[in-house]
Amino acid sequence: MMGKPNAKTAPLSTAADTPALLSPRAGAPSRGFAHADSWIFDLDNTLYPAECNLFAQVDRRMGEFIARYLGVPFAHARHLQKTYYRQFGTTLAGLMRVHKLEPAEFLAYVHDIDLSVVSESPRLRAEIAALPGRRLIFTNGSHRHAERVAEKLGVLDLFEDICDIAACDYVPKPEADAFRRMIRRHGVAAETAAMFEDMPMNLAAPHDLGMTTVLVHSGYIDHPIQEQMKSWTELPDHIHHMTLDLTGFLEMRRDAAHKSMDLEEGEAPDA
Ligand SMILES: [Mg+2]
Repeated sequence: MMGKPNAKTAPLSTAADTPALLSPRAGAPSRGFAHADSWIFDLDNTLYPAECNLFAQVDRRMGEFIARYLGVPFAHARHLQKTYYRQFGTTLAGLMRVHKLEPAEFLAYVHDIDLSVVSESPRLRAEIAALPGRRLIFTNGSHRHAERVAEKLGVLDLFEDICDIAACDYVPKPEADAFRRMIRRHGVAAETAAMFEDMPMNLAAPHDLGMTTVLVHSGYIDHPIQEQMKSWTELPDHIHHMTLDLTGFLEMRRDAAHKSMDLEEGEAPDA
């Protein structure tokens, strides 16, 4: 049965092309969570599910901003928006380099969105609260946007800090330099960090730096890599884990951690 188009701009995938949950290649070097003490989360379409379509609002407002800023028709603005996104990592990075845009006005405009589509998530809250160690949000968006969304989800107070695009001097993921800046700024040890992201290319640098990487599936299709992913039969080596549901994945991680603890306790001689 065909899934019905989901949004006006229809960027969301339909049930018919929901991806399989992919596994790592046999023999791929694996990394787990036993030693993880820093838990780093992308924000958009990672901490909240893409299905709520919040990002569609941001996406549309980027096009509106460009149309007004450059005085071009909306369709052309959308074309530039997506071209810069692919070429520079973010639309903003392209606008700054090509058009010398001052970022603050752009960020304020694109993140001025209606958060009523984001629901409070007590289950997600419980799982993030259970993560042993520090937790950070690392986003190509603004600090204020991350703060508002995390607050709406009911998880903001669980995070030690937010590393936003301004904190990285507007160097965006997927650039390795963005990750190095985040690591330096927050004193993160990459070998004991886990990175959660919905965009596969944003996991290449964290893998190279030694982090455990988790791809959180997003049905929000606006990058060619997401089309390419549909033909993947296994995960590329820089992605160690994949999930269709972040909260469910964290629940499984917690169960697995408890079991391994039980095992260790079981192995110890009885007092
Ligand atoms: Mg994202």
